[in-house]
Amino acid sequence: MTGGNMGVDNKFPGKDLSEDDLQNKIPLVAKKRPDHRTTFECAGIEFGGKLVPVMAGPNTVENEELIVKTAIGVKKAGAHFLRGGAFKPLTFPYRSPKFFEPREDGLKWLQVAKQETGLPIVTEVMEITKIEVVAKYADMLQIGTRNMQNYPLLTEVGKTGMPVMLKRGFGNSLRDWLMAAEYIALEHDKLRQPAKIVLCERGVVAPHTHRATSRFLIDLQVIPAAQEATHLPIMSDPSHATFWQPWVKSMMLASIAAGADGLMLEVHPDPVNAAVDPLQCSSLEQFDDIMKACRPVAEAIGRTVDA
Ligand code: PEP
Ligand code: MN
Repeated sequence: MTGGNMGVDNKFPGKDLSEDDLQNKIPLVAKKRPDHRTTFECAGIEFGGKLVPVMAGPNTVENEELIVKTAIGVKKAGAHFLRGGAFKPLTFPYRSPKFFEPREDGLKWLQVAKQETGLPIVTEVMEITKIEVVAKYADMLQIGTRNMQNYPLLTEVGKTGMPVMLKRGFGNSLRDWLMAAEYIALEHDKLRQPAKIVLCERGVVAPHTHRATSRFLIDLQVIPAAQEATHLPIMSDPSHATFWQPWVKSMMLASIAAGADGLMLEVHPDPVNAAVDPLQCSSLEQFDDIMKACRPVAEAIGRTVDA
């Protein structure tokens, strides 16, 4: 029994998962019984349990002052992880003072923020040659949407044995996503450890996104669909999905209600002046309001956002 009756018994590659896929192509990430769920700890925070961990912080670690201020604010409001990109997959290559990659400096500023607040760090690693330096500072390694199918990167990240957040490719099916997760799970298995992977839905390309600036649509349906097929926890990132801050709160609440095992959102102390993606980030005050709204929704379904 692997994940219940998926309906289609498809011997050929398709867009949706088949029983054959679950049994033979993703044996490590497929559920083995209906109540099979992985839980793992990262920096003392449990994933896959009752807690819905919240990861908050700016798109880019712009400078030390900004990340420390953000960390203090999000910690006070109840975040469990500090997020922020030091190595950035920027959509176009022309850098300016407002559009840049802080690289190892950004990692050092994240470390200062961690020392100030105790918040663990989740940050993106984009290429194999940077795994070593990112792993020195990060508690969880983030694989971004654009790298979901970068199989050599997945393998090398897996070899570190560190907890990994695997974002969904914005054009990828659940089938593609779980097959990518299997690459990391395979390396964790070789290290004789359970898979420490959390999936993260961050919006997919769709014909209608309801605003000219919105590039993606959040696929909340993938949360129960993933939970039907895999024992890995799955989280949701409404900031990248909506690309529009006024929609973030409702999609945070809806993600919890849909069963998300974690949440990520972009928070910046001064959203209008955020170096990257100012339309999608929440202020510290908005984040506090969102957290307050999340509490009763989580409780209503037997979860909590309070560690
Ligand atoms: C991010 O988390 O800042 C990011 C670049 O996300 P994604 O890979 O989902 O676009
Ligand atoms: Mn971002």
